[in-house]
Amino acid sequence: MKELKQLVRPNIWSLSPYTSARDEYQGKDAKVFLDANENPYNDPVNRYPDPLQRDLKVRIAAIKDVPVQDIFLGNGSDEAIDLMYRIFCTPGVDNAVAIEPTYGMYGVCADINGVEYRRVLMNDDFQPSYDKIMAAVDANTKLVFFCSPNNPSANNIDRTVIDRVLDNFDGIVIVDEAYIDFAGVPSYLRQLESRPNLIVLQTFSKAWGMAGIRLGMAFAQPEIIGIMNKVKYPYNINLLTQQRAMEEVMQYNRVQGWVDSILKERTRLMEEFAKLDCCIKVYPSDANFFLARVKDAAATYNYLVDQGIIVRNRSKIALCGNSLRVTIGTAPENNALIDSLKKFSSCTKKNQNVVVVFSGPEGRQSEVKRSEFSAEN
Ligand code: PMP
Repeated sequence: MKELKQLVRPNIWSLSPYTSARDEYQGKDAKVFLDANENPYNDPVNRYPDPLQRDLKVRIAAIKDVPVQDIFLGNGSDEAIDLMYRIFCTPGVDNAVAIEPTYGMYGVCADINGVEYRRVLMNDDFQPSYDKIMAAVDANTKLVFFCSPNNPSANNIDRTVIDRVLDNFDGIVIVDEAYIDFAGVPSYLRQLESRPNLIVLQTFSKAWGMAGIRLGMAFAQPEIIGIMNKVKYPYNINLLTQQRAMEEVMQYNRVQGWVDSILKERTRLMEEFAKLDCCIKVYPSDANFFLARVKDAAATYNYLVDQGIIVRNRSKIALCGNSLRVTIGTAPENNALIDSLKKFSSCTKKNQNVVVVFSGPEGRQSEVKRSEFSAEN
């Protein structure tokens, strides 16, 4: 890895950050707070929240088994993605490389920040090539993005490729693990200590069931976290979010129950979906959603909208022609989807040679079946 100073934009490296009232006085025991131009009425929302979310980070550190100093909290992990560009990439000069297809915000944030975004197409199994990634990298590449499990393909990305890029690329490697709790493989958090160029993203929006409170996590060695804290808005995580997240992390054993139910439903829903006549292929999933190739994605999507059921049509995305992305819901929600699709007119004809790929126990993708189904099944 290059020296961090060489990777960070010069204006960010030399930035004197804003210091808020709550940065200056961090204690909680004072009796009278007259330092932040707050309103003395309307307790507790009259007060600015902790800019560094210290109490929450202590709980997260224990759950994730990482040092508190390795944690950044953002307004969703989307905030952390945007910060990557603002910290590391000089507009019009530097570039970022990412697997394709993947989560759209890496490219959108690159565009917003005036940074060239290089898409490296994966193979038909949605796995990247180390050689292609390194061929896209040049002296101005600051960031390489991996998303594992990947959105929209839902599969774990080959770790040997990620590891080799971490070993050989001299810039920052971001591994977005938004869906790691469903993946059945170890997190890259376990490599943080030995890898100064690794940033791992996780979120409270998926397994934790808190997309509404907007809370994302970035994990890296303390030098990088320090720079992220310098660049973020002073009070990026509001008081209500910090309070609610605190309540939830105190009862985090609930999360595993939700994950277990979702994984069970995932297996069932994928099997049922694969039997539909409109389905051509269900791709393996290591996440709380799956991608399926259908005969006519637009028609299927529109039909489902009419039934009040919304999935995501990903057909315009590379390698995802005629593909729908389906999130795993509750059993009744999943049944509603399958029941509707069974009635869908194009689901009445016989289909040959459907490829069914589904996840085995513990969320590992393990079995591949080639079957013949009909709508009557
Ligand atoms: N990364 C991936 C791969 C995602 O799919 C999403 C949301 N769909 C995010 C990050 C953003 O998550 P958050 O809600 O934490 O901003």
